[in-house]
Amino acid sequence: MDCLFCSILEGKIPSNKVYEDERVYAFHDINPQAPVHVLVIPKVHISSADAIGEENSAAVAAVFEAIPKIAKALGLEKGYRIVTNIGEHGCQSVKHLHFHVLGGTQLSETMN
Ligand code: AMP
Ligand code: ZN
Repeated sequence: MDCLFCSILEGKIPSNKVYEDERVYAFHDINPQAPVHVLVIPKVHISSADAIGEENSAAVAAVFEAIPKIAKALGLEKGYRIVTNIGEHGCQSVKHLHFHVLGGTQLSETMN
């Protein structure tokens, strides 16, 4: 399977790591949309949030347990935004579930 983020997890493609545990990996986005822009991913391949089910939701829970720790480490005490894009209309470009964590400034009120 040809997956960019699986390749990052395997160390075949370099990344700027900010956090790692048994189930979760986080790294700086290569094209940041905010002063802090980190991608948080499960180590298991899940194609998008639309593929979450009871068989893999523990990996997603682990991601959400890691995010507050990551946010704290990155100094996001004033808040941040978590975004996940799904499919064509959602503008998902990498087909491995990832949560964008954006912050470090006042974010816009718009969602789209
Ligand atoms: P999405 O458009 O939601 O699928 O998000 C994919 C994100 O991955 C984009 O924000 C890209 O900037 C980011 N990205 C693509 N390639 C890399 C890479 N090699 N290292 C870090 N981030 C990447
Ligand atoms: Zn993958």
